Amino acid sequence: MSERIFIGVAWPYANGPLHLGHVAGAYLPPDIFARYHRAKGNEVLMVSGSDQHGTPITLTAEQEGKKPGEIATYYHHQFLDSWQKLGISFDLFTTTGTANHSEVTQDIFLTLLDRGYIYKATMSQPFCPQCQRFLPDRYIEGTCPYCGFSGARGDQCDNCGKPINPVELINPHCRLCGITPQFKDSEHFFLKLSAFGDRLLGWVKQQTRWRPNVRNFTMRYLEEGLRDRAITRDIDWGVPVPVDGFEAKRIYVWFEAVIGYLSATKEWAKSVGNEGKWCSFWQGEVKSYYFIGKDNIPFHTIIWPAMLMGYGDLNLPYDVPANEFLTIEGRRLSTSRNWAVWLPDYLSRYDPDPLRYLLSINMPETADTNFSWREFVRRNNDELVATYGNLVHRVLTFVYRNFNGCVPMTGEFDSHSRALMDKAKDTLNTMDGLLYRCHFREAIRSAMSLAQSANRYLDVKSPWKTIKEDRQAAANSLYAALVIISCLKTVLYPFLPFSSQKLHEFLGFKGSVEDDGWQLHFPSPGQGLLPPEPLFSKLDEELVEEETSRLGHVRC
Ligand SMILES: [Zn+2]
Ligand SMILES: [Zn+2]
Repeated sequence: MSERIFIGVAWPYANGPLHLGHVAGAYLPPDIFARYHRAKGNEVLMVSGSDQHGTPITLTAEQEGKKPGEIATYYHHQFLDSWQKLGISFDLFTTTGTANHSEVTQDIFLTLLDRGYIYKATMSQPFCPQCQRFLPDRYIEGTCPYCGFSGARGDQCDNCGKPINPVELINPHCRLCGITPQFKDSEHFFLKLSAFGDRLLGWVKQQTRWRPNVRNFTMRYLEEGLRDRAITRDIDWGVPVPVDGFEAKRIYVWFEAVIGYLSATKEWAKSVGNEGKWCSFWQGEVKSYYFIGKDNIPFHTIIWPAMLMGYGDLNLPYDVPANEFLTIEGRRLSTSRNWAVWLPDYLSRYDPDPLRYLLSINMPETADTNFSWREFVRRNNDELVATYGNLVHRVLTFVYRNFNGCVPMTGEFDSHSRALMDKAKDTLNTMDGLLYRCHFREAIRSAMSLAQSANRYLDVKSPWKTIKEDRQAAANSLYAALVIISCLKTVLYPFLPFSSQKLHEFLGFKGSVEDDGWQLHFPSPGQGLLPPEPLFSKLDEELVEEETSRLGHVRC
């Protein structure tokens, strides 16, 4: 029976280009997951969009002398281009700047206000006497009271991931002029998170499928006790507060962006001409997954669930497979210091699959992992080209030349050949279970282990030699190898969609590899092959030094 899977993906701030940390943390994993479920025949909806609001955008605009909307639109188009080139297969990638998103946000705001989960109170807000303005969130910086990190912002510490109140910052200063702010009273709306503590704790305790890092972080956070949080700001960029007297304020981004999962679903339903269809991904038998980086955990395991509980009748997250961080050449990634590999820059010079491969086999699922250009070249050359690509290429070219461009006729298989083909079935089943549980790294490793087994098998059988004395024996072993290759194009499809589709066609299959489903397709003897080309290209060792020297200098 087919399942319904909702995949919510973190909303990137439209204030700068994406980098490999974003891809490894939050964008590649949901794409692998979505492609796998679609191939399984499940009903999938994967949505996200660019986050156009919030101080990351207004601050960038102010620093560059532009309007926030200009910045947001520019990066939104760049994101769309990157998704297309990298093969991130969103069903909808929208923005928080739509009228639809405002309506859905205001509806949730007013409903929670009506039920007493949102209330009005006066709070002390940082105000810069020099700039004559309030300093929400990123406009103020200081030292984190929890971990001592010196670049903590007024809303969150990027080092320890904890949300912060600006009053808690040690040595706070204005990001625009650098002076120490004063604190001034301002009236705001608060989300009554404290009302959800017990319910959240009970709910989180049941989530035994969550990754330990996600569950432990959330439990610690809940055990410390939840505090109510202000959800409006003294800014003029964002979703308007639908209450009289609050015209000069906006609903703040951390309350509003998570609502994007719901508003995007509603937008998608309208776009497919069935406005009511959004319910089928938010109510009843649906599993909702949220793919995010670890810095986003509390927003998806505490704040968004609390908002959903308060609103009622909508599904809570089923799983929140948050990833750890990716370091670059052993150092913490830093966008301000350009210590990053920018995605548009990568995609302008290299193919998508080698990057998808490296970030999958080295995915920061349970601990931080490192990206280095040396490893990129090594894994491309030794694994993608030598283990997988060569297996495919030598088998397909040999069969194509010696069997009139067709899959050979088979005779009786020996036990060695049967064992290899059984391993293909086992791999398909093992990977099914691993992908279902979001264990992507282990899954791709078992696919590569199948490719290695096929290489060892061919070394023993050497059909290139036996064809001279026993044509049927050569045909049998080549057929067994073709079965493995056919299995690999299916199981590697979620990870390497571009090369899998090519291989699907080389093998003489029609349509798309995804539509053919998650099963082992035995090529039919006599089936016509396409003239094969190499799936991957060897990379020059020299690029390691060139690329490494660009780090810290190239801004995308
Ligand atoms: Zn901290
Ligand atoms: Zn200032």
